Amino acid sequence: MLNEFAYCPRLGYLEWVQGEFADNDDTVEGRYHHRNVDRTQQRARPRGEGNDNEVPKIHERSVWLGAESLGLSTKIDLLEGEGRRVTPVDYKRGKRPHVPQGAYEPELVQLCAQGLLLRDHGYECDEGVLFFVGSRERVRVVFDDELVARTVQLAAGMRAVAAAGPIPPPLVDSPKCPRCSLVGICLPDELRYLTVGEGAAAPPRPLVPARDDALPLHVQHPGARIRKDGEVLQIVDDDKVIGEARLAETSQVVLFGAVHVTTPVVQELCQRGIPVCYLSSGGWFYGITHGMSHKNVELRRRQYAVAGDPARCLALARRFVQAKIANCRTLLRRNHPSPAEDLLSDLKGDIRRAGQADRLDVLLGVEGTAARRHFSAFAEMLHPDESEAATFDLESRNRRPPRDPVNALLSLAYAMLTREWTVVLFSVGFDPYLGFYHQPRYGRPALALDLMEEYRPLIADSLVLTVVNNGELRSEHFARAPGAVSLTAAGRRKFIEAYERRMSQEVTHPVFGYRISYRRVLEVQARLLARHLSDEISEYPSFTTR
Ligand code: SF4
Repeated sequence: MLNEFAYCPRLGYLEWVQGEFADNDDTVEGRYHHRNVDRTQQRARPRGEGNDNEVPKIHERSVWLGAESLGLSTKIDLLEGEGRRVTPVDYKRGKRPHVPQGAYEPELVQLCAQGLLLRDHGYECDEGVLFFVGSRERVRVVFDDELVARTVQLAAGMRAVAAAGPIPPPLVDSPKCPRCSLVGICLPDELRYLTVGEGAAAPPRPLVPARDDALPLHVQHPGARIRKDGEVLQIVDDDKVIGEARLAETSQVVLFGAVHVTTPVVQELCQRGIPVCYLSSGGWFYGITHGMSHKNVELRRRQYAVAGDPARCLALARRFVQAKIANCRTLLRRNHPSPAEDLLSDLKGDIRRAGQADRLDVLLGVEGTAARRHFSAFAEMLHPDESEAATFDLESRNRRPPRDPVNALLSLAYAMLTREWTVVLFSVGFDPYLGFYHQPRYGRPALALDLMEEYRPLIADSLVLTVVNNGELRSEHFARAPGAVSLTAAGRRKFIEAYERRMSQEVTHPVFGYRISYRRVLEVQARLLARHLSDEISEYPSFTTR
């Protein structure tokens, strides 16, 4: 972590204190080059120890060392030497940089820290070696007084920042950020833009990846089993492989109904941080399995503190509801053939009233009124083929169970969005069960429900309009029972495909101006909420489209 702290104090804090980690090309390549070095792990010991006639030679890989007195621990890639005189060798990806010191400061202090630990363990160690894999060059680094003093100073600085906080501020317009693996977590330009105010800072550079490389794997084949074959997940029915997905390209596994998953698969998924979500065959969200909780205890403490403060809860709830109503109004303007002026202005009034609500129950009332107005015009935004008009005839919003196809689609879309937000919140380090607007109730992911408010019209409602209006779903995709309608397996598959298309669709971020997928939007917004709760930004910027 000394390396990271020297590169950027905020990076050191994010990784060491908040337990954040993310891969980029550099970290993946670095791990690849370390694979041989990491194969064996040893402790520092002179070879031939105990044989008086032999001069002990040392050539050990992956040597772990720690010292309370220095407050440091390390893993030395390779330790070379003879007797008590040793040289640590640190493997680096890429080529040797042509700088006067032979390498950049983060690498120098990391190596020097290894030298100090070796000295603490009784070895003589005056220099180390950086081995650059890309150019296969060794750079000799002498541990002179200046480097030792800088290393000790940075180690003390890192411990002090970790113990007292707060998180160090992001670097300003730094060329280091585009190469930083945590740029999508840190959001340096976005925070600066929100802190100094629009116009005072340049718009954020588009450093957040626009889309994800990994996607959810949905499995709904009744009785199917998921097993692992090397780096691939296989979906098997009666010992016949009916589907495959590469683990590296899987972001979550979503199981509908009676689908089985083997213990080795669950262990592998937990280890890789890939959650498994369990839904009923109709799409009702039962729960989730994931690895050890995110290490960011600091964030959860902030969340609990804000959840216990009625004024801050109300302020956040107002923003969620205002954004939701604004997005409903936009959906109406975009999709209704002739939206009534009265309705648009009533919704505008609802946005104003939501902003003035002085209690959560008042806000709930405003939201309920706006929702009724929104759904009163929903049927007029549906334009199915004439032959399907009766199928998608909508009278009102109803649920548990939905009594018509449109309500069945809306319910499934909301359930999928709830699951999506729950997964995002877990991955960012929140407790999804404690919200600010929705009150805790057993088994209800209240924070996920809070945050999904503004996305109900943008993702779920708009998705339902799309699949009905472009004829993707038709009468034969619904199963009818007395008083209830649900999707058939084929209908659900089509709807899930359309949902994933929607999540992959790129949209312009209303505040930052760059384009990212909806899937990425959710993560960025969750991280902005985390920054708001940590008092790094004064307001949570809600997501509204025009
Ligand atoms: S993105 Fe920039 S400011 Fe943020 S941790 Fe990385 S280097 Fe530091």
